[in-house]
Amino acid sequence: MPLNPDTPIFGIRGISPMFAKRLDKLGIKTVRELLWHFPARYEDFSKIYNIAELEPGQQATISGVVEEIGTRRTWRRHMTIVEAIIADETGSIRAVWFNQPYIANTLRQGRMVNFAGKVSLSDEGEMYFSHPAYEIVKNGGVGYGETETRHTARLVPIYPETRGLTSKGIRFLVQPILKNLDDLPEWLPNNALKENGFPEINQALKDIHFPAQVEDALVAKKRFAFEDLFLLQLANLRQKSKLAEEKAPVIETDLELVKKILAELPFELTLSQKKSLWEILQDVERGRPMNRLLQGDVGSGKTVIAVLAALTAAESGLQTAFMAPTEILARQHFLTIKKLFSHIKATAQPTICLLTSSESRVLYPDDMETIVKKPELIKKIQLGEVKIVIGTHALIQKNVLFKDLALVIIDEQHRFGVSQRQALAGGTNAYVPHLLSMSATPIPRTLMLTVFGDLDVSLITEMPAGRKNIVTKIISPDKRSETYEFIRKEIRAGRQAFVICPRIEQAQAGNDSTTASVSETQKKLWEVKSVTEEYEKLSKTIFPDLRVAMLHGRLKPKEKEKIMREFGEGKTDILVSTSVVEVGVDIPNATIMMIEGSDRFGLAQLYQFRGRVGRGEHQSYCLLFTDSSSKTTAARLKAIAEAKNGFELAEQDLKLRGPGEFLGQSQSGFPDIAMESLNNPELVKSAREAAAQILKTDTNLKKYPLLKERLTAFQNEIHLE
Ligand code: ADP
Ligand code: MG
Repeated sequence: MPLNPDTPIFGIRGISPMFAKRLDKLGIKTVRELLWHFPARYEDFSKIYNIAELEPGQQATISGVVEEIGTRRTWRRHMTIVEAIIADETGSIRAVWFNQPYIANTLRQGRMVNFAGKVSLSDEGEMYFSHPAYEIVKNGGVGYGETETRHTARLVPIYPETRGLTSKGIRFLVQPILKNLDDLPEWLPNNALKENGFPEINQALKDIHFPAQVEDALVAKKRFAFEDLFLLQLANLRQKSKLAEEKAPVIETDLELVKKILAELPFELTLSQKKSLWEILQDVERGRPMNRLLQGDVGSGKTVIAVLAALTAAESGLQTAFMAPTEILARQHFLTIKKLFSHIKATAQPTICLLTSSESRVLYPDDMETIVKKPELIKKIQLGEVKIVIGTHALIQKNVLFKDLALVIIDEQHRFGVSQRQALAGGTNAYVPHLLSMSATPIPRTLMLTVFGDLDVSLITEMPAGRKNIVTKIISPDKRSETYEFIRKEIRAGRQAFVICPRIEQAQAGNDSTTASVSETQKKLWEVKSVTEEYEKLSKTIFPDLRVAMLHGRLKPKEKEKIMREFGEGKTDILVSTSVVEVGVDIPNATIMMIEGSDRFGLAQLYQFRGRVGRGEHQSYCLLFTDSSSKTTAARLKAIAEAKNGFELAEQDLKLRGPGEFLGQSQSGFPDIAMESLNNPELVKSAREAAAQILKTDTNLKKYPLLKERLTAFQNEIHLE
């Protein structure tokens, strides 16, 4: 039966409905999805050994004749044991399988077979195979008729482990499907194939599943990684050029005025703040929508840059929406802006407001702050009376329409789609507002060029002068109680502490038999301190005299807000939390960042935690607790202690932990293989160049209909916006 990539798995002859169902659960419904389920690695069973050569512990394939085969039952445990003896010219060896009685029907006496697996040694000193892979073959052991071997006598693909689906089962399917598949058309441009030395698509599929040699598999894998990177680049570059064709409100810069305002600020901008501001002001003057990411460590002073841009828009009579991920952060921005305005006399202060689900207040130019009813405020925004609207994302997206929205500023969210922006601007508006997104997450360069390739970037690389260094210490188990005493002393002196834990609660042991074999990593997870446990311990045993609160992602947003607010108001001393502690939260009185199980966090993440303290006048401390005594842990934590900027750490993290750490859930549609390849700057570069080259002469991919089709499918899968 000829197959094509869209053939559903259900109904292919020879695939049991049960198996198809399991695949379905993995999201594998079509031939394409099955074939694109790539092996994680390969085991080398290619050499066929003589039985007499075998050694205990070795992974090997042997080829011979079934001399004996039999089934017995153990009467006490009701198990079936199949035992077989296989012989070649040099000797014979026993193989056993538990609870697979059907094997006795397949491997009949006299049949030519291959076994592949690990050679075990019994208590009596006899070598045997336990649960070897087996295959019926013809003389020579390389296959049966037209069919090549798939489990033995070759490089054997090992697929990512998934519940109820063995690598053997998948191999069993993939091989005949590959054989019966209609040739796929090549859709990568010829140049890209040639320049990189990639195999064409059909060869690449064969090579990645059943390679003749490891090198073939690696090149094939690289090709598929390239495909995804290439599509990603095409998507980004096209998005960028599409956006460049849109119209945006022109925000003119009054340079003299900007200079006057800067002179009035209580501090001088750092060099990279100035540069960033300049890049932004130039962008918004052009009449094309800005799409810019402002990156800088926590505390590097992004807000003031955003406010200056908003102020420039207000000067032109235009509106700005300034959005934060949480109410706390929105309120914090409102207060920061209010404080900044108290210094600025060079220009008339525009009317600004705070609009969240629990608050709606207006600050008028005469410093009159008024609480107003929400509908009234929304009306003022709609009439264009309020120039700068500060709020949370969700709320603004739902209810509020602006009169002259020119600038959207978002905090800690990288993307904000063009259509979202247009909707915010009133929908019917022919303009797309400018976008300035701000992030304290250092993003490694390869990721910046791929996943966020459509954004222009401004970087704040230095901290404002006069910041106190945060004392960073790695705390070994024997220094624990001493350190607790230190924390108590700080708190007695009026300070506050964060305690970060890696996980919410102990993972439950699985209650079904398939999880009987628990992996080492899982066991480690169980050992990890949990927030709840830690909270109990700190509040009842260690610091019963202090006020301890707990925060984690499973709390309702309202509860979280309350806990954060109380901590901010100094009503609690210690906040025990998972990593949900909001990025960017400013609690100047907190001077201690204590991190439990610090070896379990990424470097960049630890760096961010540390940035939550040292925001006030007091000396601050970052205390990295670890129970691990390994050298690598020490080296990693030392990197934090010595780090001067987050970007280097991010690059290091990317190498150590992979891109998943950076992209998180929201980009989960992003293909694994492309994720891996983000560690390969050369490949990223090559994909970017190939994409740019094609688009230069053929923006709409008219000459590449197949490519265009793939691109559309890809974009639907990964949802860049
Ligand atoms: P973030 O980049 O984390 O958003 P903020 O914008 O909140 O940082 O700035 C942190 C603090 O530093 C604010 O109180 C701000 O007024 C102050 N600040 C910003 N720029 C400078 C500067 N160049 N010199 C001194 N202080 C600054
Ligand atoms: Mg901020």
